[in-house]
Amino acid sequence: MPLMKSWVESANAPDCPFPLNNLPYGVFSAEGSEPRCGVAIGEMILDVTLLEEDGVIAPGESPVFDVPFWNDFMELGPEAWAEFRDTLIAMLGADAAPAARAAAEKALVPAAAAEMHMPFVVSEYTDFYAGRNHAFNVGTMFRGPENALPPNWLHIPIGYNGRASSVVVSGTAFHRPWGQIKAPDEGAPRFAPCKRFDIELEMGAIVGQPSRGPITVAEADAAIFGYVLLNDWSARDIQAWEYQPLGPFQSKATATTISPWIVTKAALEPFRTATPAREKELLPYLDEPGPMLYDIELEVTLRPEGGEETTITRTNYKEMYYSAAQQLAHHTTSGCPMNVGDLLGSGTISGPTKGSRGSLLELSWGGKEPVELTGGGTRSFIEDDDTLTLKGAARGDGYTIGFGDCVGKVLPALDDPYKR
Ligand code: CA
Repeated sequence: MPLMKSWVESANAPDCPFPLNNLPYGVFSAEGSEPRCGVAIGEMILDVTLLEEDGVIAPGESPVFDVPFWNDFMELGPEAWAEFRDTLIAMLGADAAPAARAAAEKALVPAAAAEMHMPFVVSEYTDFYAGRNHAFNVGTMFRGPENALPPNWLHIPIGYNGRASSVVVSGTAFHRPWGQIKAPDEGAPRFAPCKRFDIELEMGAIVGQPSRGPITVAEADAAIFGYVLLNDWSARDIQAWEYQPLGPFQSKATATTISPWIVTKAALEPFRTATPAREKELLPYLDEPGPMLYDIELEVTLRPEGGEETTITRTNYKEMYYSAAQQLAHHTTSGCPMNVGDLLGSGTISGPTKGSRGSLLELSWGGKEPVELTGGGTRSFIEDDDTLTLKGAARGDGYTIGFGDCVGKVLPALDDPYKR
């Protein structure tokens, strides 16, 4: 698909992340306003809360943008999602009718002046472990290459129920966590600040339609509203001690950062691609009716306080072994109800080469091979005041689909919270 031209000139540059082809959904505030719903177009944000207030748009029978989140809009369902996208394209396209263009012009705010907020209310958060290279690398480090992949891995998209309460929007800083840690050579555990704090480069899929029983992969795909970049911050030393037998708990509960804009399935449609060849035949309920992954280039940068930015990894979402639709279908097999605003983390996305690994644990191979930084120095894990940024781009014919950066800064640990 070629670039769709907009009268918002900045949207027509080939490397602009927000062309008319994209139209991602976020929540912003500007010039002291309350948080409100907006759509990114070029270097501007279209204030759809204002347009709905003024009666210019009415995607639902009652207002859906009178709240600072996109959940009410998601509830309207796929037909309304498609109609609203058509309305936006008609309003912002190069050949927009004069009245529609005039209405939109009044509702444009420069993105540079806006502060971004959480784009949706996270109902619940589930994190998967569905990247084969990541699972193999981590399994090799913890159990050796012979036992790297657990026996269930090629049959089940493995996941655990995470915390919705600590999902935060890009730009939110937080403190290094404390936790219970015991290194293999230590006789007893101790309570201390995490020393091996890490990123996990993931994509998040947002459930936009509820389900009340098992659904197929095709139904799951239809229920997904859109995608965000997701950093599943991980405390490796806490994880190593706590994870058996029920999986990660406090090691993943400090924070999960998402990018500010929800990129819709419609915008990503031209980038659909198939999951890699199956190494074991999957049970029929996990069969994919068509390509369910997306070709999205991903990278992570690390910037020490006052230092230079280093790109520490480059990979692609198409490296996943299981798609978000397969994960969602699997999630429903038990009868587990899924709700609008449920967030599914893909699992860490590592490519096959060293420079494409999606976590510092893998990049530094457990700390044995520290990563060189551009401005000097090395990193095995995150140090205090480091800023980590996830970036994503789907490259079309003369245009780019971006997500907005997914940024997080790790502040020093606070004083011992139990010190008397
Ligand atoms: Ca994860």
